[in-house]
Amino acid sequence: MTTATTDTLAKARIAVLGYGSQGRAHALNLKDSGLDVVVGLRPNGPTWHKAVADGFHVAEPAEAVRGADLVAVLTPDMVQPTLYKQAIEPNIKAGAALLFAHGFNVHFKQIEPRTDIDVILVAPKGPGALVRSEYERGRGVPCVYAVHQDASGHAEEKATAYAAGIGGARAMLIKTDFKEETETDLFGEQAVLCGGASELVVKGFETLVEAGYQPEIAYYEVLHELKLIVDLFYEGGITRMLEFVSETAQYGDYISGPRVVDAATKERMKGVLKDIQDGTFARNWIAEYQAGLPNYKRLKQADLEHPIEQVGAKLRARMAWLQSGAKTSQAPLKKVG
Ligand code: NAD
Ligand code: MG
Repeated sequence: MTTATTDTLAKARIAVLGYGSQGRAHALNLKDSGLDVVVGLRPNGPTWHKAVADGFHVAEPAEAVRGADLVAVLTPDMVQPTLYKQAIEPNIKAGAALLFAHGFNVHFKQIEPRTDIDVILVAPKGPGALVRSEYERGRGVPCVYAVHQDASGHAEEKATAYAAGIGGARAMLIKTDFKEETETDLFGEQAVLCGGASELVVKGFETLVEAGYQPEIAYYEVLHELKLIVDLFYEGGITRMLEFVSETAQYGDYISGPRVVDAATKERMKGVLKDIQDGTFARNWIAEYQAGLPNYKRLKQADLEHPIEQVGAKLRARMAWLQSGAKTSQAPLKKVG
């Protein structure tokens, strides 16, 4: 628990732009915290009806921004610069706050906000569905927060009040800055979470299959069972994982882990980090997006066609527990950013 409260925003009108993973969770939690929320969306866009059904006043982004004291930008990162130019910059009040849940566009100067507004960041360390479900249980998901620009003299209070409104202050607030949030977030998803983990799994699968083992067995050993390990990491770190695996598995971990992921891997991780820090990654990604995603589509197709996906689909169809009930994929984790 922290001492942050929603007081600073008690009389504020909050416009939440975007009603996806984060937007819906933030809007509902802020409303349930007693704050005045309007949702800004493209007319008849995919989530307009959902926001109306949830009881919100929904308006076009420009209209939602007019009169708002805090504007939370919770659309996909790549559409934010145009949204800022068209709907926010001409309409946001002097002294109002512009809030992001990821620092990408501000840090890499794709959005250069007007100097008469506050620019802040509140990023929950979890997917939107968890931000909502924890709030409903009277708890919250820890948040990082930051101030990029303080025009009103109250930017930090607004950030912590917003974090309190979405429930984060019930858990923990960690102060950061836009640079740290952006660079660490990109590094984590590239080197470890999405890129690193998926490549490790695929290379392990290929190694076994090329050595003549059955793909079905390989799938279970290198992909399926990863969940057990990740759950242990999540609950109690590497300590808990080591407590729950056999002595043989532990010995193999100590001897073979550093053979696979070694000092050379770490050097290449540093290369990934350098490309993030010096703006190379951002520049390439923005150019790729503007060109209509040609490489992104090609690389994605190759991932989807990999044999591990063919065998995986067949095996998962026989896992009855996956055919019913809530899946993580209905509570999307971070997409880009
Ligand atoms: P999302 O893709 O789930 O939802 C996007 C929403 O924006 C949808 O409601 C969509 O209809 C709407 N939208 C799209 N284009 C629009 C436009 N031009 N104008 C108005 N609305 C538009 O997005 P998300 O994953 O919730 O990400 C939102 C922000 O939160 C991003 O900055 C992201 O980096 C950040 N973030 C996400 C997570 C996560 O768990 N998903 C975690 C931390 C931070
Ligand atoms: Mg991959």
